[in-house]
Amino acid sequence: MNNKASNSEMQSLKSEVEYRTKLQEICSKIYAAMNLDEIIINLKDEITGLFAAERLTIYYVDGVKREIVSRFKSGNEINEIRVPISPTSISGYSVHAKKLVNISDVYDKKELNRFDPLLEFDSSWDRKTGFRTAQVLVVPILYKTFLLGAIQLINRKGGTAFSKTEEGYVTELAKIMGIAMYNQKRMAKTRSGKFDYLLENHIMTQKELGKAVSDARAKNDAIENVLLNDLKIPKKDIGDALSKYYKVPFIEFNKSLPIPGELLTNLKVPFMKNNLWVPIRTEGEMVVIALDNPHDGQKIGEIQTLFPKRKLKIFVSLKDDILDYINLFTQDEKELSSIDDILSRLDDEEEEIVEAESGVSEESSAVVQLVNKVIIDAFNRNASDIHIEPFPGKENTKVRIRCDGACSIYQTIPYQFRNAIVSRLKIMSDLDIAERRKPQDGKIKFKKYGGLDIELRVATVPTQGGMEDVVMRILAAGEPIPLAKMGFSKNNLDNFVSCITKPYGLIFVCGPTGSGKTTTLHSALGYINKDDIKIWTAEDPVEITQKGLRQVQVKPKIGFDFAAAMRAFLRADPDVIMVGEMRDKETTHIGIEASLTGHLVFSTLHTNSAPESITRLLDMGMDPFNFADAILCILAQRLVRTLCPDCKKSYTPTKQEYDELVREYGPEEFEKFVKIPYSDQLLLHKPEGCDACNNTGYRGRMGLHELLMGTDEMKKMIQGKAKMDDLRNQAVSDGMTTLKQDGIAKIFEGRCDLLQVRKVCIK
Ligand SMILES: [Zn+2]
Repeated sequence: MNNKASNSEMQSLKSEVEYRTKLQEICSKIYAAMNLDEIIINLKDEITGLFAAERLTIYYVDGVKREIVSRFKSGNEINEIRVPISPTSISGYSVHAKKLVNISDVYDKKELNRFDPLLEFDSSWDRKTGFRTAQVLVVPILYKTFLLGAIQLINRKGGTAFSKTEEGYVTELAKIMGIAMYNQKRMAKTRSGKFDYLLENHIMTQKELGKAVSDARAKNDAIENVLLNDLKIPKKDIGDALSKYYKVPFIEFNKSLPIPGELLTNLKVPFMKNNLWVPIRTEGEMVVIALDNPHDGQKIGEIQTLFPKRKLKIFVSLKDDILDYINLFTQDEKELSSIDDILSRLDDEEEEIVEAESGVSEESSAVVQLVNKVIIDAFNRNASDIHIEPFPGKENTKVRIRCDGACSIYQTIPYQFRNAIVSRLKIMSDLDIAERRKPQDGKIKFKKYGGLDIELRVATVPTQGGMEDVVMRILAAGEPIPLAKMGFSKNNLDNFVSCITKPYGLIFVCGPTGSGKTTTLHSALGYINKDDIKIWTAEDPVEITQKGLRQVQVKPKIGFDFAAAMRAFLRADPDVIMVGEMRDKETTHIGIEASLTGHLVFSTLHTNSAPESITRLLDMGMDPFNFADAILCILAQRLVRTLCPDCKKSYTPTKQEYDELVREYGPEEFEKFVKIPYSDQLLLHKPEGCDACNNTGYRGRMGLHELLMGTDEMKKMIQGKAKMDDLRNQAVSDGMTTLKQDGIAKIFEGRCDLLQVRKVCIK
């Protein structure tokens, strides 16, 4: 064995491995780079080091000018050199001929002329700088047939020509560069135009776009997401840009959009998720599809096969919005299947169960799951009510839910399943399935069926065409809202608190159904709920639960009504008694007696205003003297939708608009209570609409109040059975502001607008 030989072999092998590793490193850096310019400038030293060359130049092809360009850093600036693609220079020749050029001495004319008679070395640079160029190796950068640039190495250290091995390595590097340059070019091409709108309107700069593109690639995310999240470009502007580019409408995620039940049957969720598309709704015979890239003809073709004989209407949407829609429409709730799963199973079962009239059986597990899903979804969306609305014939059944006081469509269900769904709900609420001509009411203890600890109050109503609607009120075991968050004006809050902290007396909250009376009562009880007082409540149903209260559900069907509950409470050592409603003489009478014997009694009345409540109770036959003694206050309440705090828009009202508000309030009282003069600094607010409020401009609700205090003068008037108008005047002179006045004051506070106030204060 010759040790020497094997050593040098080992050494060359070792250096080859090192070489390869280093080359690999450089190549992967180029591959991963988004901004090729930048990476090339940064990698310059590494590449020259690798090949033991003195200088490295990387050229790009500028196809328009037929030149090759190289950018280099000098200080903090980036400069460029341009060379024509022609045999008149060494690098220009290499690109022109698409040939590797390896020259050992550029000043040797003969060596140059072996390549091309026109080939010359421009020595002016050398003369200017004092640099002496000797060896040059140029490798053109190509990808397939595309000419993209060149790598040029100058002066091999040691003074000998670049070796064959080095030629091979540089060729390899050129190949990788070719792929990277081609990719960048292609991406720039597909990208060009997509966000032109944002550039033209100066919503972002070209530089920001460039960075967004490279950030998106580094994060493996959509560029749109980077624009949205990092550059904080409004979604609406991105949507406008995409819409202009793809020439189709833009649709953004909106969680209140109804689930297009029929369209989701038989669709596979993974297919939609992987390909980023989702059916949104039908428009006549057309199916509206949201897609991330409406230029993808192949994808659209595949989607078309899923909706044979129907026309597609394509909308562009953002990746995340499409995924949000898919999740919204198909979301899994614990062990529940997605809605499309359930609906597609309904289809299968329909074929098995041949029942001409009723379609599908209510015992079908798919129907059971569908009903559970509707309830769980509605609860998760903070809905207060669910409306099941079947139609005769082949029209699909509508499911609507009410959130923040307004109804919206949750889903439509194929007509074949309407009877099964209604029957299922009736079974769950212990109602008579056979009785379809009379209204019925019952209750669902949902824990028995779906796991969520909620109750639903169910009402069925026979509707036109032999149908039956089902309306469910969701009774969430909710916490009481703190009194301070109920939207009371400071004055009203102080006065109301002074009443509810008294040891005895009678307090009423009045208003129509849905005006939040029970919520307010519970807030009041929450305020005084301490270990040292005993509070009994009788409710139908128990909608809000509070620790510390002893809450009783009345059952009028078995004779345990409000009056019976009150009598029971009086034997059970109460300090405070709350009775859900005083609608009959007996209950009211017991309530007044109880308050006169040292108890604080709360209840509600189904009346429109505070003064009207007094008239109503006297008309009912209450003793005016007892009643006058007992009464602490009567609070009339309405709920208005509040302006969305995220998007409400301030504006200066016209003098006319201001005068109108003052006139509606009453000029004298406005002077006394609101005291805001007109000026051009005055700001009111109006609804605008944003993501947070589903583009309605309104979010949440608050109370408008009218608080009549049981003052001495008021008590005297009650004893004298005064007329309603006189009661009202007395209340006003005691300092009461009406519901409308409270609303107008809240308009000036920027919390609501006149439209909503008018809605609940029609007189
Ligand atoms: Zn909003």
